[in-house]
Amino acid sequence: QEQGDYRILHEGALRDYLAGLPEIAALLGGEPLSWAITEVGDGNLNLVFIVRGGRGGIAVKQALPYVRLVGESWPLPLSRAHYEYLALSKQAQLAPGLVPALLHHNEALALTVMEVLEPHIIMRKRLVAATQYPRFVDDISTFMARTLFFTSDLALPAAEKKQGIAAFAGNHALCKITEDLIFTDPYRIAEQNRWTAPYLDGLAASLRDDMDLHVAISRLKLKFMASPEALIHGDLHTGSIMVTESETRVIDPEFAFYGPMGFDVGAVLANLLMSYFASAGHERSPAERAAFEGWVLETIEQVWNEFARKFLDLWRSEASGDAYPVSLFAGERGVARLEAERQAYMQRLFTDTVGFAAAKTIRRIFGLAHNIDFELIEDPKKRAISEARAVRLARAMMVEAAAFRTIADVTGAARKLR
Ligand code: ADP
Ligand code: MG
Ligand code: MG
Ligand code: MG
Repeated sequence: QEQGDYRILHEGALRDYLAGLPEIAALLGGEPLSWAITEVGDGNLNLVFIVRGGRGGIAVKQALPYVRLVGESWPLPLSRAHYEYLALSKQAQLAPGLVPALLHHNEALALTVMEVLEPHIIMRKRLVAATQYPRFVDDISTFMARTLFFTSDLALPAAEKKQGIAAFAGNHALCKITEDLIFTDPYRIAEQNRWTAPYLDGLAASLRDDMDLHVAISRLKLKFMASPEALIHGDLHTGSIMVTESETRVIDPEFAFYGPMGFDVGAVLANLLMSYFASAGHERSPAERAAFEGWVLETIEQVWNEFARKFLDLWRSEASGDAYPVSLFAGERGVARLEAERQAYMQRLFTDTVGFAAAKTIRRIFGLAHNIDFELIEDPKKRAISEARAVRLARAMMVEAAAFRTIADVTGAARKLR
């Protein structure tokens, strides 16, 4: 369909459009005029509507031709909706039940209709309220292990893997946002940067002057740009995860492309670490605080450990890709050597993860897009204390990533910074 077919569907136009889709109209039930339409988008980029009819509800996401957070002065391609749809389809296939069900997609309108998640709530909001989620470790580790393993060269024949890379290669404008906002701007003077001034002025200046850090972030940037290891979600923070007591759903994969696996795993760990450091700034009783912080650190450890365990299990049982040909690892010696190599691979992936987690943390404190974990700490002095602790750990994680041998080294270092 042609570019010219695009128009923003606000309430009335959206109602008419949905009424013209028989399956969606039947799912909603009742007269189109009776449908309740509410815009709920709280993200930085797109419109999201919840539509409720007599029978059921749906969520409708439409991309805008610009960055919602900034406005029309910052254009952004509508094609991101297509990549989000492609990624959601793939994730639904590889990690069933962990993403919202897809109901309809219109590429020209950059519009996707999906299952409405309720009573699911954005995880980050609940973390600010110190809520613990028992399902989270198992679900997110399964999501990451399966989506990353099955789109990698460990699982795919080379031709299929390269077709996957090609299918997402056009999503470069979204990659560029990450390349600029995460891997470049926080380390230089940039108009969009902000931080908790004046308390963090000195720290912001030291980041701009820290050549060890500039080398480390540039290596991570290159790894992000030049390592098509697997189909990554690309924006896997706790604002892209919706939860209930018993369910976890990953949403919003519009940044998806073939990139380094550690970027997704690092995103999850970074956001949990920020929730940990922010905890001290929120009103909580000492007991509540200790319980929540203990849970977050334990969750961080389990997310990595469970992810690694599941990924290795898949590698041992479902390695149908062209990497590590079985014929090169025959016999007892071969089997033992391949197992040792799997462990070495996971160690390198862990080092990548530690570095990317650090990059994800620093951008939330000095870059354009901040998160409510810190932003909802009203007293700027308290906020700055929490943020500065997170930055101290992040700097060590970035510059000396390989010194963190296990996830317990990360949580241990976080605990010491309280
Ligand atoms: P953006 O790309 O703009 O960040 P998101 O996909 O993250 O958009 O959606 C923005 C918000 O809309 C989410 O934070 C969530 O509150 C809500 N939302 C998105 N998808 C659904 C859904 N399937 N069901 C219910 N709410 C949703
Ligand atoms: Mg979002
Ligand atoms: Mg976002
Ligand atoms: Mg998004």
